[in-house]
Amino acid sequence: MLSFSLQRLSTAFLFVFVTLFAHNTGATTISKTMPVKNVIVAIAMEAEAAPFIQHLQLKLVADFFPSNTPFQAYQGPHGDCTVTVITNGKDTVHETGVDNVGTVPAALATFLALQKLPETDILINAGTCGGFRRKGAEVGNVFVVTGVAHHDRRIPIPDFVPYGIGKLDTSRHGDFTTAEVLALELEYKLGVCTTGNSLDKTEEDDKHMLANDAAVKDMEAAAIAWSCKLFDTPFLGLKVVTDIVDGEHPTQDEFLANLLAASQSLQVALPRVLDHICHVGVVKDQAMDEL
Ligand code: SAH
Repeated sequence: MLSFSLQRLSTAFLFVFVTLFAHNTGATTISKTMPVKNVIVAIAMEAEAAPFIQHLQLKLVADFFPSNTPFQAYQGPHGDCTVTVITNGKDTVHETGVDNVGTVPAALATFLALQKLPETDILINAGTCGGFRRKGAEVGNVFVVTGVAHHDRRIPIPDFVPYGIGKLDTSRHGDFTTAEVLALELEYKLGVCTTGNSLDKTEEDDKHMLANDAAVKDMEAAAIAWSCKLFDTPFLGLKVVTDIVDGEHPTQDEFLANLLAASQSLQVALPRVLDHICHVGVVKDQAMDEL
């Protein structure tokens, strides 16, 4: 009995010590047992991914995906982590040659990548998005995604309604960090990402996006988070605003005008997030070494 209490006391002391140490170093109070080693970064469009691939000097892995898929993978080290960027490639099925945006390629590419790399600690979905002015979004803002949901999967049969909306909480990233901590430390905004297969929107979409309490809108996040859930891999959504959904400019014009600037902003945001999630592990390890 006494030894049990002592054990609990020393565990509590250890927790307080690690917590205080983490505070002193400005790190998070989230404890973790293993540092992040393997990160997948899923980015839908080549133009969004290119500056980041270049910045990290990642190399194309030609045989990463099955040869009959259009997806691309680039890999390389970043600090102690191995980073694999996957993109959805270009459309060959309809012979348009544009980027394979939307939920179908996103879910499939994510699934195949997680199957290929079962040791993945965390998957980051980085990309552009529309932002809602009513939730404080401005062009260029970076959002950390607290949850995802669909706004264009309307199935008015009671049992199917929650499946259609497909809400997933993405505010905790395994034991590594939380959306709140990340947003606080890196000074990014927080909010729900609503996903649909259209760049524009209908009045019906509007109602569902409002019901989803969306701060940002994209075409992939909820699908990528769904594949992550199948593998129980933490999903971290990082979205840069290219256009304002509830603003006065047509989405496509604003999107094209801001795509380059937003991709460059992603190139700054992504390494900061990677450093953050790798750093947390280092701090914890140091704290344990000190004991
Ligand atoms: N004309 C573009 C089409 C891009 S589709 C082209 O050059 O190919 C839009 C992409 O940006 C998707 O990957 C989506 O996730 C994201 N996106 C940016 N703003 C969006 C918005 N307002 N609504 C939905 N998706 C948006």
